[in-house]
Amino acid sequence: MTFVTSLPASPHVIDASQHWAAHREPPARRTLLTAAASLAAAWLAGCSSAGLRTEAAPASRPGSTPGTPKAAYQRLMEGNRRWVTNELQHPDRDPTRRELLATGQQPYAAVLSCIDSRVPPELVFDTGLGDLFVMRSGGTALGPVVTGSVEYGPMTSGTPLIVVLGHQRCGAVAAAYKALRDDEPLPGNLQAITHALRPAYEQAVRERSADPIETMARAQVKLTANALRGNRDLAPLVAKGDLAVVSAYYSLDTGQVEILNGAPA
Ligand SMILES: [Zn+2]
Repeated sequence: MTFVTSLPASPHVIDASQHWAAHREPPARRTLLTAAASLAAAWLAGCSSAGLRTEAAPASRPGSTPGTPKAAYQRLMEGNRRWVTNELQHPDRDPTRRELLATGQQPYAAVLSCIDSRVPPELVFDTGLGDLFVMRSGGTALGPVVTGSVEYGPMTSGTPLIVVLGHQRCGAVAAAYKALRDDEPLPGNLQAITHALRPAYEQAVRERSADPIETMARAQVKLTANALRGNRDLAPLVAKGDLAVVSAYYSLDTGQVEILNGAPA
């Protein structure tokens, strides 16, 4: 695992924080990168089999990596439109792209989606290798490890967009709903998902909708996005306009991603 960040000096290694600054980095994000450099370097040392030889990812489409929340959002939504209309481009999924990314990466969005096999972010947004950080948990449930994983891109390499992607007919939400309604805990670690989804369940109960599971599923992604948007480490990035956190809902029937809140203006 390698990340875009600053690295020890080497004639063959780009200081990625400088590279980023030169190509797309707003000044405020440069400050963040500097602050995060020691953390990320330590991570890199443990994750990269090649030690610290990591560079910012060269782009196979030069200059095309979205560098702002709005540009990243538009790129994803364009990809989802292609998915819905069967005009897929399958961008950046070839050996050339793989080789370009072998020593670095510069994803433009972080997507937290459900584990559901029918909602793979790379497919529903028609993205390629190196485009997305992807986290998946049952019902987009948050916990310290998931939250830390979502935060990683924005905090260390300036990823400008987080998307929390729920979906229609979510089995995790349905199971948690029934467990809470009937007060019958799910077995083993599954109960941790139930616990994480309780606030969405309570909101669905309060709203007394005709389809409480659907209501709970939508509430879950909005609550998750709100929690990320307002957390101690991400809120300053949002306030500066360097990061947007979007909640979205995927239709199994049509393939369309519906934005619930947080779309960058
Ligand atoms: Zn699901």
